[in-house]
Amino acid sequence: MLGRQTLKLRPTLGSQFSHITRSLATAPLDASRLQVTPISHPSTPKPNDQLVFGKTFTDHMLTVEWTKENGWDAPQIKPYANLSLPPSACVFHYAFELFEGLKAYRTPDNKITMFRPDMNMARMNKSAARICLPTFQSEELVKLMGKLIEQDKHLVPQGQGYSLYIRPTLIGTTAALGVSTPDKALLFVICSPVGPYYKTGFKAVRLEATDYATRAWPGGVGDKKLGANYAPCILPQLQAAERGYQQNLWLFGPEKNITEVGTMNVFFVFQNKATGKKELVTAPLDGTILEGVTRDSVLALAREKLDPNEWEVNERYYSITEVAEKAQKGELLEAFGSGTAAVVSPIKEIGWNGQAIHVPLLPGEQSGPLTKDVAKWIADIQYGKEKHGNWSKVVADLN
Ligand SMILES: *Cc1c(COP(=O)(O)O)cnc(C)c1O
Repeated sequence: MLGRQTLKLRPTLGSQFSHITRSLATAPLDASRLQVTPISHPSTPKPNDQLVFGKTFTDHMLTVEWTKENGWDAPQIKPYANLSLPPSACVFHYAFELFEGLKAYRTPDNKITMFRPDMNMARMNKSAARICLPTFQSEELVKLMGKLIEQDKHLVPQGQGYSLYIRPTLIGTTAALGVSTPDKALLFVICSPVGPYYKTGFKAVRLEATDYATRAWPGGVGDKKLGANYAPCILPQLQAAERGYQQNLWLFGPEKNITEVGTMNVFFVFQNKATGKKELVTAPLDGTILEGVTRDSVLALAREKLDPNEWEVNERYYSITEVAEKAQKGELLEAFGSGTAAVVSPIKEIGWNGQAIHVPLLPGEQSGPLTKDVAKWIADIQYGKEKHGNWSKVVADLN
């Protein structure tokens, strides 16, 4: 085991410094040090139709403790259980907390794969660095999540739309009320078997364009998956719900630029009368937008698959005013949210300034044509029907 390594300064530097020791290196996150304590009675999988998003969890969890002094301790896989923390732990007072969300899928050749976990790990490290929690070796946490999933592989649901939602979390655990850099932290990962977000195909949603509350701002932390970003968004969502809208379409600034929808990134499809092309557009990553893995995947696939003679794919600023004007002229074609949980979520109406902006849907359907294509492109890769570079990472082979 790698403990603290100390360096005694050479006596020639003077006896007055001989008591000084310096930490050379603290232990990195190391998957090879994993210790597994299996549950005594593994649970039986719930029938698919009883899976509720994020309410049931697998038998095991992963925990890794960190201290400033020693670095990352040996990772543990152990039965899913309550945490025990002092009430003074800094996570409870100053929101030293961040999380990730990604999924694992069962493929037709009976493997379990994670979708683009390297992207989530990179983002998690950025979130950690921003709130002075420890960063870690991304590949090691990918390996450890793989072991955790393998431990409960019988609980990864089977079937189109079903998957295992993985929730890596990092909290500061220093037991002190002074606001300062945490010197203790806990990384843990829990997993929840989940079903399709929309049980009976798509269900297009109504959004309220929201300018009276602001989700994120320049110089803020809206581009990080910090727990502190989410609680303040519930009240505006309830207020929108009272008026019959499922989610907020978050606007920013005097220009009323469109940023995100609820906890998803958002895409619009416009007809560009000048060029005769269609345009798929989403807001640029300027620090106020969460860098969604689904967003990145939609952009990459659109750029690969859409004919550039007919399509433009743009990351640019655009406002609710532009959307309203385009809708009036019949140039608003589609809109959808993107995120790990629902993958794509079609939008049918946006309330703005007391008016309803209607987003066209395919006749008798709950989405537009591109929304439907994008959903299929991504699902085919996630469920192993199509291969796309290294987007699918095999974590277990059940053959
Ligand atoms: C997690 C999240 C997203 C979507 O990110 P994915 O990596 O695609 O799941 C978008 N916006 C917000 C605010 C988020 O928290």
